[in-house]
Amino acid sequence: MTKAENCPFFRKCGGCKYFHDDYAYSVRQKQKQVNELLKPFGQVYPVLAMEDPFRYRNKAIAQVRYDFRKGQLFSGKYAAGSHKVAKINDCIIEDVKANQIINEIVKLMKSFKYEAYDEDNGRGLIRHIVVRNNQKQDQYMVTLVVSDPRFPSKKNFVKVITEKFPEIKAIVLNVNNRKTSAVLGDREEIIYGKGGIVDRLLGLDFVISSKSFYQVNPRQTEHIYQKAIALANLKPTDRVLDAYCGIGTIGMVMAPLCKEVIGVELNADAVKDAIRNAKFNKVENIRFYRDDASDFIGDYEDKLDVVIMDPPRSGSDERFLSTLVKKGIKKIVYVSCNPESLARDIQYLREQGYKNSAFYPIDNFPFTDHIETVVLMSRL
Ligand code: SAH
Repeated sequence: MTKAENCPFFRKCGGCKYFHDDYAYSVRQKQKQVNELLKPFGQVYPVLAMEDPFRYRNKAIAQVRYDFRKGQLFSGKYAAGSHKVAKINDCIIEDVKANQIINEIVKLMKSFKYEAYDEDNGRGLIRHIVVRNNQKQDQYMVTLVVSDPRFPSKKNFVKVITEKFPEIKAIVLNVNNRKTSAVLGDREEIIYGKGGIVDRLLGLDFVISSKSFYQVNPRQTEHIYQKAIALANLKPTDRVLDAYCGIGTIGMVMAPLCKEVIGVELNADAVKDAIRNAKFNKVENIRFYRDDASDFIGDYEDKLDVVIMDPPRSGSDERFLSTLVKKGIKKIVYVSCNPESLARDIQYLREQGYKNSAFYPIDNFPFTDHIETVVLMSRL
């Protein structure tokens, strides 16, 4: 199964880009893209592809809508380049059970008389359903994104859905009543469980809560982190900054290899998870700060030996990078989810006297047009 016809929704769904040919084709396209952007700076290794590129995502997101013509509630994904929702009840890059849970919730919405949110007039209750799962597939977390925190028959709903799917360990109501394309709002209420699930990555356990960033493809993430560890080549005396650290995953797998890790992350929930995760795994030489990475590093006075940075798609900013230069950081391991912003940031660091290693692209997002790349920047 490698071709478009295996995804019955390919033509109407805007989620993936490459289902019109086999997986190898999409990997070649990504190789071309990274080569064009990064070869001017040095060697680019072959893309590390997935052996089995299906069902890799640990996070399923569905939009909920009402079809007025058919008088029918349904769930699906945004069509390409549009806010129209295509009716889709399974996704072959997402988890099977996560999709079953979504379909069951849509069914229950009918009996519980929960209305789908209408983007045009702002009426209705449920906007999106997000289901996250761990790699072992024995823990699932449901986030119902609602327009109003008053959620009728909460207890009964929880009882019915958890009886049907005992693997659901957490249900969270996330309130989003803004006119926005962002899925999640700020306010949350845990209506079942402790608000998170636990995934195991490189021998450590990580609690993930509804609003925290967590890599969507844990199988490939292990390769990304291993590459970052190899390039960092840490010494037991090193103090490492894990910038844009999310729930602290990279820093925590590096902590046993160095003296100390400092993690910085903007999202307060992710920082809470990170602190909880360090305790849980008994990693004692790591500390986390909730801050903008550029503000944090500007104020940080102690010596840093190595910086690991894993910024969002927009990349880092000149304030952050110029501070690294000023501080004379010798080693920077850059983990990037966007080769365009990576090329821009690499160019800047090279102009400031850094040299880059070869580039290691890893296909963390099969069938989409995204690609992850790891590279070391160093200077004497
Ligand atoms: N290293 C983590 C997370 C990478 S994703 C992992 O491998 O899982 C990028 C992270 O950067 C997200 O958690 C996001 O919340 C955070 N972020 C975005 N802008 C930031 C900023 N200006 N300062 C610090 N963190 C930021």
